[in-house]
Amino acid sequence: MPKKRKEKKGKRIKSKSKHKCTQIYKFYSIEGNKIERKRKECPRCLNATFMGEHKDRFTCGRCRFTEMKKVDKNE
Ligand SMILES: [Zn+2]
Repeated sequence: MPKKRKEKKGKRIKSKSKHKCTQIYKFYSIEGNKIERKRKECPRCLNATFMGEHKDRFTCGRCRFTEMKKVDKNE
């Protein structure tokens, strides 16, 4: 009987996906009895869907709603 040789398979390098979970609790700050929302909420989704903040806009990760920031140039 021929010996069965186990073929060594090269180790697969798993691509490290650096996806960070949205830490939604960080978007709230509780001051006394008030819950203050630090982030803007999506006007379409509501249900506490926070919008991602970018340099010049806010975007919703769920519905892709984008709202431009109002830039005040009055200094
Ligand atoms: Zn949305």
